[in-house]
Amino acid sequence: MPKSRPVEPPPACITINHTRELDGWPKQGSTAEAAARKALNAILPLSVAQAKEYGGVIYTVKGRFYALPPRTQCEPDKVDTGRHEVNHSAPDGSRAVAVYHTHPSASIAGDNTDYNKFSPSDERLGRGNGVVEGDGLDDYLGTVDGSFFRFEAKTGRTLRLQGKLDNGAQRL
Ligand SMILES: [Zn+2]
Repeated sequence: MPKSRPVEPPPACITINHTRELDGWPKQGSTAEAAARKALNAILPLSVAQAKEYGGVIYTVKGRFYALPPRTQCEPDKVDTGRHEVNHSAPDGSRAVAVYHTHPSASIAGDNTDYNKFSPSDERLGRGNGVVEGDGLDDYLGTVDGSFFRFEAKTGRTLRLQGKLDNGAQRL
């Protein structure tokens, strides 16, 4: 085994259940995918280092797309992104279109995780038309190995997106 560089331990996880104002946020892009990529590149290294899920909501206003700052409840395998809140936690006058979240762990309590798959609960939350079951928000996923996926709420399809995300290290 090659010797790895000593790394600073990550800061302890602190629950963040809402925040609109945070330096450098929201991340913006010309598409929801572009905003999701910026958001995940910004939070995935910390999420992986802490082995805690993070996620948030992406909204659109005036043709631009914005990813709200990431939330976390410091759980290894779930996060409340704010999608259940009024206007899916997006600002008044904007329209929520998607969520993003992380799968930061290859194993939890000794069990391997399907980190490169949306969980049944991820799919249930999004799938549907907003009346039946899910809220119809697409879901962008960044995982421990830097993979990037989109779950399409309308079709229930998962797509692997081009280009690796920054996971903080090439550890897998
Ligand atoms: Zn998930």
